Formats: sequence, C-alpha cells, structure tokens
Amino acid sequence: ADGVDSLMYDLGAGKSAIREVFEQTMELKQQGVTDFWDYSIGNPNVPVAPQVTEAIREALEDYESVDLHGYPPNNGYLTTRQAVAANLNRRFDAHARAGEIAMTAGCAGAISSTIAATTRAGEEVIIPTPYYAEYRMWVQAWHCNVVEVPTQSETFQLDIDAIEEAINPKTRMVIINTPNNPTGAVYTKDSIIALAALLRRKSKELGQTIYLLSDEPYREIVYDGKQNPWVAAYYENTIVCYSWSKSLSLAGERVGYVWVPGTVRHAERVYDAILGAQRVTATVMNSLFNRVLEKCVDLPAPVEEYARKRDLLYGGLTDIGYDVVHPDGAFYLWVRALEPDDDAFQARAANEQRLYVVGSRDFACRSYFRLSYCVSDECIKTSLPAFRRLFESYGG
Ligand code: PLP
Repeated sequence: ADGVDSLMYDLGAGKSAIREVFEQTMELKQQGVTDFWDYSIGNPNVPVAPQVTEAIREALEDYESVDLHGYPPNNGYLTTRQAVAANLNRRFDAHARAGEIAMTAGCAGAISSTIAATTRAGEEVIIPTPYYAEYRMWVQAWHCNVVEVPTQSETFQLDIDAIEEAINPKTRMVIINTPNNPTGAVYTKDSIIALAALLRRKSKELGQTIYLLSDEPYREIVYDGKQNPWVAAYYENTIVCYSWSKSLSLAGERVGYVWVPGTVRHAERVYDAILGAQRVTATVMNSLFNRVLEKCVDLPAPVEEYARKRDLLYGGLTDIGYDVVHPDGAFYLWVRALEPDDDAFQARAANEQRLYVVGSRDFACRSYFRLSYCVSDECIKTSLPAFRRLFESYGG
C-alpha cells in the first residue's frame, strides 16, 4: 500500500472525456497546428464586458493593496453578498438576504460544498441523465452514491415518474441543471412544479428532507424568449448554486455563490455547514473578484451572440443530416453519434477530420456527442465541410 487514496487516484488518472479532448487540442496548439476544430470544453469565447475590466481597474485604485489582496471572509464580503441578494430580489422577488449567500469558487465550489454539507456517507443523490460529469465525483468524494435517472427521450425533460421510482429512504438530494449541460433543455415550469410536489410528498413520507440542488450557471443563457423557471420559488428546500463563469465569461476566475433560502429546513445550520465545507474544500472566492462582482452582478449575458452561434451550427448540422437536439439554452449541442459507440465516433471525428467533439459516455448516456459552441463564428463555418465529410464517410 502506497498510501494513495484510490478514489482520488482514479479521479486524477482516469481523465474525463472532456479533459482528454481538451488536452489533445492544447497539445496541437503547442505544436503550432491550427487546422482543427475544438468543440470540447465550455470555455466562453465572448470577450469579457468592458464594465468588468473597468471594475477590476477601479478595485486596484480604490482599495489599499493589502486590503484588496488580503483574506476575505470565508463567505465573501457583506457588500458583495448584498449586491447578489438585491439582484435576486429584483429579478425573481426571491426574498434573499445577504446572510443566506456565500461567495464560492464558481459553481464547482458551491456544489461540492453543498453536497459535503448536506449528505452523509451511504446516502444517495439522484441525478437525471445525461448530466455534467463532475457531479459524480463531488458525490462520491463524500462516500455517497449517484443514482442516475434518465430524462425523457427526444425532449430530455425531467421524467418525474422515474425520479419517484428512484426515491428511497437513502435519498438525500436531487440535482437539476436548467438550462442543461449537455442537452440545452430548459425545464418546463410544470415539470418543476411536479418535481416539487413529489419531493415534498416523499420528504414527508420518509420523514427526512430531500434537498433540491439547482445548478444554474447558464441561468441567463436562454433563447427565443423562453423562460427558465426560477426553481427556488417552487420548492422550499432548494439550494441554489450559481456562477459568472458562463454569463460573464469569467470561467478562469472561479467566481460564484451558493444561496440557502430561509425556507430551507434548518437553513442556518445548512448555511453554516456549507461554510464549514468551504473551509475543508478550500473553495472560498478570491478577494479581488468579490470587489469586482459587487459592481457587475447586474450585467447582462451575451445571449444574442450565443443564439447566433447556435443557429449557425444547428442549421449547418441539420442540413447535412445530423440528428441534433434543438437547444433552448446554454451553449451546447447534443447530437446523435453516427455509430452506437460514441468513444469510437469521438476518435474517428478527431483522427479523420480533426473535429474535437466529446462522446456521451461521461455524461452517463451512450451514442451521442456534445459540441460546445462557445467558439468563433469562423470556427463553426469552416468546420461544416469537415462535419459533412465525416457524415459521408459513414455512408450518409
Ligand atoms: N455545472 C455545470 C452544469 C457546468 O456546465 C459547469 C461548467 O461547465 C459547472 C457546473 C462548473 O462551473 P464553474 O466554472 O462555475 O465552477
């Protein structure tokens, strides 16, 4: 025995499909190769708004350096949390208070700390498939089990009956993500209402709280006037995780928050436990961006930019003959692979056409692939002939 924790080893050594492709493309870039198309990772390509850059400059001028770069409180500065609460209250009539919000290192920090704080070893977390693969490790790290429940075929909307079947005395949490990565589905208000009724009924029956973790990094990225439901309004035990990684193109800065509404059972204990978990997982948000975001929380996301990219890629691929799910939000296309083995499809797309796509295995679903279309319009346009060649190589 070498003392290495096998779960941590597996997580580090067994790369995710997304990271694998991302690293292949990084290597190509380092070699100076330019003629390839990278649809692997959800790293926003829309430039950061000038107001954010300006707020960074102002923070550098407005604060003494030791204050600006010193330790912030673990839950973030009060003024930043007040700005977040005001934003939620203005947009959603949320009744949020600054004392219910903790700034985090992105949604990742918010989710991992929330899971750590609200689950115990041996408990189960239900996640509709396909889903963002990192959830799995955050659950497993605390010796809990993921219970995968398929969404409805074709629409990828929640299957409430299937979730009901999966609930048992070990169930502690359900995680949902709307708009969804990877499918682009925006869950209907009715499905959220039905889920809330189910979780309320089951919590009562089982005599324990079932939390709903609403992961919302794509909250604002919704197209065609569709409404993304404000989940917390429908279920009192919702914990909201948010980040500015996508909406303000700040993925590398690790900026987000978790909100534990006052309606959550034992809300204050849950909040304090999340702060405890933040200490353990070291996912406190940095000081400089606390100051920056205090001024930027109301900035809009570049929805039109992403809508244009969606139309370009969705239109181009469906014209060729690909079977593509029409996304209502986020910035991913979920496409049926041209052979059942999505790993083989991923490899063939890369090797034969230098199209770097992500097979669906990591999302707990087979025979699809995901494209992150937060890329330049040029990339989309020039990639379409390669997608056509790939389609034709399968006899399409
Ligand atoms: N949740 C979903 C659904 C995501 O797609 C991502 C990132 O791609 C995250 C959470 C993590 O986001 P963050 O960069 O805010 O940690």
